[in-house]
Amino acid sequence: MVTGGNRGIGRAVAEAFLAQGDNVAVTTRTGGAPEGALDIRCDVTDPAQVDAAFAEAEAAHGPVEVLVANAGITRDTLVLRMSDEDWDDVIATNLTGSFRLARRASKSMLRLRRGRIVFVSSVVGLLGSAGQVNYAASKSGLVGMARSLARELGSRGITANVVAPGFVDTDMTAVLSDDQKAGIKQQVPLGRTARPEEIAAAITFLASEQAGYVTGAVIPVDGGLGMGH
Ligand code: NDP
Repeated sequence: MVTGGNRGIGRAVAEAFLAQGDNVAVTTRTGGAPEGALDIRCDVTDPAQVDAAFAEAEAAHGPVEVLVANAGITRDTLVLRMSDEDWDDVIATNLTGSFRLARRASKSMLRLRRGRIVFVSSVVGLLGSAGQVNYAASKSGLVGMARSLARELGSRGITANVVAPGFVDTDMTAVLSDDQKAGIKQQVPLGRTARPEEIAAAITFLASEQAGYVTGAVIPVDGGLGMGH
């Protein structure tokens, strides 16, 4: 199950799993999953919709073996201008939504005695970012959540990891000005932005059999932007 799999990073992840021949369920609010994936409507801020999405995926494909909690939003502004709503919306989607998904996924993974949970965080969760107090807090929260799950669920063969992308070309970053984009690229040792497929590669690795001994890890895919964190 890949949340937010109709565009950007999530779509690339869903397509990578489909290319491997996996059964893929994509959940979004607006639909438009890639060809071959189960297209499930689910707002991750609504607990009932999260439960229903799992029920729909399970009915079609059996228990969810891999969860990629990717759906996320930004509501950027400087802290003094940040409204309670800006804060609540970002935490509800990025952090609380991911918690509900992971809790529901754990249920069937515990029964299976195996499973893979991957959270899509951000380099910003560890570096911080002016204008993104809400977003950075939500993304670093995923690290504590993954590491706690790794400890709770490890004895049952379930891994929980985090991928921390840097600057990726998607709708989320399309809103930045050319000046902002140039400024970011200057700080990236590789001197360029990432393609969504480059994030997907780390995620499919973490979901694979080969990654069976990797848990509680934060894998940066950021062109070197966050080195040392
Ligand atoms: P996009 O804005 O392109 O896509 C966001 C996805 O999340 C969409 O599929 C959207 O689907 C879904 N989504 C948003 N809110 C909800 C919700 N309440 N319920 C269900 N689905 C929701 O983002 P990206 O592909 O750029 O980002 C994907 C993830 O990667 C996010 O968590 C983001 O924070 C993270 N990230 C992105 C970076 C970048 O540079 N782009 C860098 C670091 C991390 P729909 O609108 O149909 O619901």
